[in-house]
Amino acid sequence: GWRSRAAFKLIEIDDRFSLLKPGVKVIDLGAAPGGWTQVAVKRGASNIAGVDLLPVDPVAGATIIEGDFTDPAMPDRLKEILGGPADVVMSDMAPNTTGHAATDHVRIMGLAEGALDFALQVLAEGGSFVAKVFQGGSEKEMLDSMKTAFATVRHVKPPASRKESSELYVVATGFRPERLKDE
Ligand code: SAM
Repeated sequence: GWRSRAAFKLIEIDDRFSLLKPGVKVIDLGAAPGGWTQVAVKRGASNIAGVDLLPVDPVAGATIIEGDFTDPAMPDRLKEILGGPADVVMSDMAPNTTGHAATDHVRIMGLAEGALDFALQVLAEGGSFVAKVFQGGSEKEMLDSMKTAFATVRHVKPPASRKESSELYVVATGFRPERLKDE
């Protein structure tokens, strides 16, 4: 079985966007307890590297390390595990909620922006990025960076995401690294 209810959200996102094709290399940011990693294995990803602040029971077919994704060594560590750049960077990262909506919002968007920075460092040309964001979607600055760096950017609310929760996911596809160099 799936280790998390969150697994169903990724299944729904991937049914729509087909990012987890057989043979792809995947990075899972905020992987604990491992549900999204299981989905990536099941859909045939050839190499999967994950990281979480929390320890994660091993998932066959993936390598998940305990650590903070903001550690400056982490992009290279995860790329080394994959044996090259990633085709998909996915982040379901969430902070410990404070119950204070504005604070939680700011923190979750900080994680999403950090995940985007990370993705820009490790993605292969043509690669994809998925991240949990909040309510109205990505902040303008983050959206602008994504529109520069990717061919398409969409926001989705997977049916498995509770209606009353204000989480959304951003899905960016067709990474174009040359567009970043022009800036
Ligand atoms: N997608 C996962 C699954 O299906 O099992 C669930 C992920 S859970 C909603 C969010 C995770 O983000 C938590 O386990 C948390 O520890 C992790 N996280 C938050 N901040 C992080 C950071 N700075 N570095 C690594 N992981 C982080």
